[in-house]
Amino acid sequence: MHSWRCYFSRLMRLSVRWVRLCPRQRQGRRPGPLRQLLSYGKVIFNSLYFNVLTNWDTVLDSIFEPVYWLVDNLTRWFGVVFVCLVIVLTTSVVLIVYLCVLPRIVRTYPTHWILWHLCYGHWNLVNIVFHYYKAITTSPGRSPQEKADIPTVTICKKCIVPKPARTHHCSICNTCVLKMDHHCPWLNNCVGHFNHRYFFSFCLYMTMGCIYCSISAKDMFIEAYYAIEYWAGTHSKNCHLLFSFMLLHKSYYQTPPPNFTSEEKMFHKSLLYLWVLTSSVAVALGSLTIWHAVLITRGETSVERHINRKERKRLKQIGKVFRNPYHHGRINNWKMLFGVEKTSQWITQVLLPSSHPPHGDGLTWGCPPYRQDAMDTI
Ligand SMILES: [Zn+2]
Ligand SMILES: [Zn+2]
Repeated sequence: MHSWRCYFSRLMRLSVRWVRLCPRQRQGRRPGPLRQLLSYGKVIFNSLYFNVLTNWDTVLDSIFEPVYWLVDNLTRWFGVVFVCLVIVLTTSVVLIVYLCVLPRIVRTYPTHWILWHLCYGHWNLVNIVFHYYKAITTSPGRSPQEKADIPTVTICKKCIVPKPARTHHCSICNTCVLKMDHHCPWLNNCVGHFNHRYFFSFCLYMTMGCIYCSISAKDMFIEAYYAIEYWAGTHSKNCHLLFSFMLLHKSYYQTPPPNFTSEEKMFHKSLLYLWVLTSSVAVALGSLTIWHAVLITRGETSVERHINRKERKRLKQIGKVFRNPYHHGRINNWKMLFGVEKTSQWITQVLLPSSHPPHGDGLTWGCPPYRQDAMDTI
């Protein structure tokens, strides 16, 4: 090792002496292979640690890069699982409604109520399926790679492409997304400019569908719950309560409960599953839908919510008021999202499945033509 170092340092001294002694000979010539190798090695070594933009954030980002990579890949993989889960759970609920709930409604309800259940239920189901399919298959909108005349705000450090206003980089999709709201694992897709409407409509119709199922199957769920308690033999302590309840629900228990068949037990379990699942989803997804409705009303995306909150705080400290440049008035924000201009379009394009695009191209964010009360409220 020692001799190698001596040899190397001697070689270096010789090469430096040669460089000093032969300036004329070097003129017009390319540097020698050793010199090239040295300068190349120096550049590589410097590139490992030297960067004018290096700060602690960059260093921490580099340290945690493997963790980010793992989380992004897991989220991408779980996205496929989540989409399958949504399809399987929704299908199971629809089957239970068709096999257990609707036959009871048809048998026991008056005609006008039967018609209402059939019309509303199917309208809601069609909207859920359509908006979910469109939300997962529609591209949220990517930052253009070629067009150079777009108004850009900054350059994406990862894609090395110009980023228009409201565009953000999604590390899971590994691309810049126009008017990015968030990456939704339940869609395995980003929610951006071109599928924001589908995402919101899906959330809304799914919540409405779950509320509808919970309310329609409430009585059947209570009966099924107590029936399960009975045949599971867990009723001993609550025997009086159970039988008094059964007497209250005469429509189902005219006489003391019989020994249930396996088909009836399956029926009860299915109703229990239906009600617990739809009620839980109604609460969780309903809260999310309300939150997104608030953001849309304010003209903000989920990403902008955090940015605007910081900016509002910063400007307040220096005595200025923050104004969101993408807030065009409450009603206009909704019109822009749903891409409607006339009142009749609320029925044909929002209440019924429609594939029309939202307002604008997602690159520029000027005032919409129907904007009347611009910047009236923040
Ligand atoms: Zn990017
Ligand atoms: Zn994404």
